[in-house]
Amino acid sequence: MDNSNRRRIVAQDNVWQAVLGEMEVILPKGQFLTWFKDTGIEIGKDGEAVILAPNSFSRDQLASKYKRDILGAIQKSSPDVKTLTFKVRKQKPLEKLELEVQDSPPKQNKRPEGRPASFNKEYIFENFVVGNNNALAYAVAREVAEKPGKSHNPLFIYGGVGLGKTHLAQAIGQEIRSKKPEAQLVYVSCETFTNEYIAAIASRKMAEFKHNYREVDVLIVDDIQFLSSKEGSQQEFFHTFNALHQHSRQIILTADKTPQAIPALEGRLASRFGGGMIVDVQPPDFETRMAILTGKCKEKEYLLPEEVIEYIAKNISSNIRELEGALNRLITFCRFKGTPATTKIAEEVLKDMVSSSNKVVGTAEIITAVCKFFSVPQSDVLSGGRKKELIRPRQIAIYLLREQTNKSLPEIGKIMGGKDHTTILHSERKITDGIKVDSNLKSDIERIRELIFSVKG
Ligand code: ADP
Ligand code: MG
Repeated sequence: MDNSNRRRIVAQDNVWQAVLGEMEVILPKGQFLTWFKDTGIEIGKDGEAVILAPNSFSRDQLASKYKRDILGAIQKSSPDVKTLTFKVRKQKPLEKLELEVQDSPPKQNKRPEGRPASFNKEYIFENFVVGNNNALAYAVAREVAEKPGKSHNPLFIYGGVGLGKTHLAQAIGQEIRSKKPEAQLVYVSCETFTNEYIAAIASRKMAEFKHNYREVDVLIVDDIQFLSSKEGSQQEFFHTFNALHQHSRQIILTADKTPQAIPALEGRLASRFGGGMIVDVQPPDFETRMAILTGKCKEKEYLLPEEVIEYIAKNISSNIRELEGALNRLITFCRFKGTPATTKIAEEVLKDMVSSSNKVVGTAEIITAVCKFFSVPQSDVLSGGRKKELIRPRQIAIYLLREQTNKSLPEIGKIMGGKDHTTILHSERKITDGIKVDSNLKSDIERIRELIFSVKG
């Protein structure tokens, strides 16, 4: 690359960083993360800029919803840019699969017998409420169900407990089955996979085991993080994966963390898992919680007053499973007692759930926990001092303030000793990016979160 080219690319990066900064300030965090993750820009000489999106769904959203904002933001630093087009960024090619697969390729005519994948009938796309927290995961899941083996392979869905990973994975399976009843689907939990593997070794039925997993059109493995530390199963899964992937059979995996963050997972597996599309599901915001509760009431054919739904959505925020649990408990209680549901009854019936889930923490608890964890004085962390050992604690404090409180960027800047909002964003991003590649950092943060809640008491 010659120097002028390099300069141009750096300049473009700066323009895009400025645009992202601007968008991050004007959009809710969920929307920003969903639509602007992994985006970029290429500025041509003719006043035309191309916005690069990681997939067609983001591209369409950016073009239809944010075009004007993006153009406005670009023009602040590059007034020459007059038009925008939106494109999908060229994917990095999957590194060539190691040819370690000894078994014959899947054949169409010889199918594993029995073992039809058993799904939960409720876990279908129609019952899945889409919000900012899961829009990308949903869109990609839909695409995979539409074109299994063709669009995103593997699809890796990750996120915390009770946020809809199993629901989405099964929805894909059920959708494929309804369109192509002849397709061979296997849906298993990771534990089932490892248990069957161990049983197959013990009973010398490896051939059958391989046949069951390698000659399918779609393989869904739920909670793949349980492969952690299981070397034999990992090796077997690696071969299963390759056999399927080479023949464009769809693989769908879910986990509670990114492939890189799964401890004791072989590097070659982690890299395979990340070789297709990785999407996350986040906790739902208030509006999405309202929508989910309303949907569940409909499913259960139980009419709850709006204010009661609102009470639950406001007070139970950690995950969707808990949200559903609270709703079920309330409905059961009211049916049993034959009383209509009121906010007062909800308060009474959900008392213990609300207090455990409603962990609203304040700034003080966060700063205290971070300082305690790193054994640094608060006054140092909140001052402008430039000591190197203060950088990480500050970044983490900022990251957690963003995550746990509703404070705006300028407000957090003020708390952190008068920093401007770009510094806050930069720090947050450092940690967000860091977590993806650094499992120590990730576990540090998990421990600080625990500290925060213990500080809170
Ligand atoms: P995970 O596998 O991530 O732990 P699940 O898929 O088991 O979570 O979801 C927990 C419960 O919440 C399930 O009953 C599921 O149907 C429900 N759920 C999760 N996400 C949604 C959603 N977006 N819309 C409706 N229900 C949801
Ligand atoms: Mg699950």
